[in-house]
Amino acid sequence: MPHESEKIIDNWHNVLHRIDQACQTADCDTPVKLLAVSKTKPAWMVKALYDKGQRDFGENYLQDALEKIEALGTLDEIHWHFIGQIQSNKTATIAQYFDWVHSVDRFKIARRLSEQRPERLSALNLCLQINIDNEPQKGGVAPEDAAKLAREIETLPNLRLRGLMAIPKPANSEEQQLASFKSLEDLFQQIKSQLKKAEDFDTLSMGMSGDLESAIAAGSTMVRVGSDIFGART
Ligand SMILES: *Cc1c(COP(=O)(O)O)cnc(C)c1O
Repeated sequence: MPHESEKIIDNWHNVLHRIDQACQTADCDTPVKLLAVSKTKPAWMVKALYDKGQRDFGENYLQDALEKIEALGTLDEIHWHFIGQIQSNKTATIAQYFDWVHSVDRFKIARRLSEQRPERLSALNLCLQINIDNEPQKGGVAPEDAAKLAREIETLPNLRLRGLMAIPKPANSEEQQLASFKSLEDLFQQIKSQLKKAEDFDTLSMGMSGDLESAIAAGSTMVRVGSDIFGART
């Protein structure tokens, strides 16, 4: 395991370096945050990165995530982000154990998260997932319905509407990739201008292992990277 954790730490440094380079090229005005996507990977891998200073971890599968949260949840300042599909019978657990949810695409889910957020916790940070390329099988609200949903959700207590998340379709070219990310950035600005609490709306969660450079070039503020840090998933 020592050897394997060195490898992961190495990978993590490489990803931080790529983010830094991309940010210099894009002349970013705010630093881009790295969300380390630890889905399907064991708690010791999360701990190895935590010990180096990584604080934000992304999870897709509730059972898998809860085991890690139980094991590591008391670590200072560790932040858990739920980025997977949300079934409505799971909202209470998500509201109880997570700091962020990136994958909300319906008012009903947001309302349940708000109602079920325990009082002792601060507001749950929330991003709307956008189906940016209008793919029929994919989660996310349609771009044309997103502004209305955002205005409705920002009235709910116990939530803080932070921004948008998307997973663009696999692109055939870098231009196509950049175009999807830019259309998300346009939508982000458009929605922000319509919100009462616009100052809370500061997060554009886009970019993964294969396309974080394009995402940062288009204005990403948070990239979600799994396989380039932790290795391929089985
Ligand atoms: C798995 C996953 C990621 C990470 O993808 P990689 O290509 O492994 O970096 C990012 N976002 C979401 C929503 C995911 O499900």
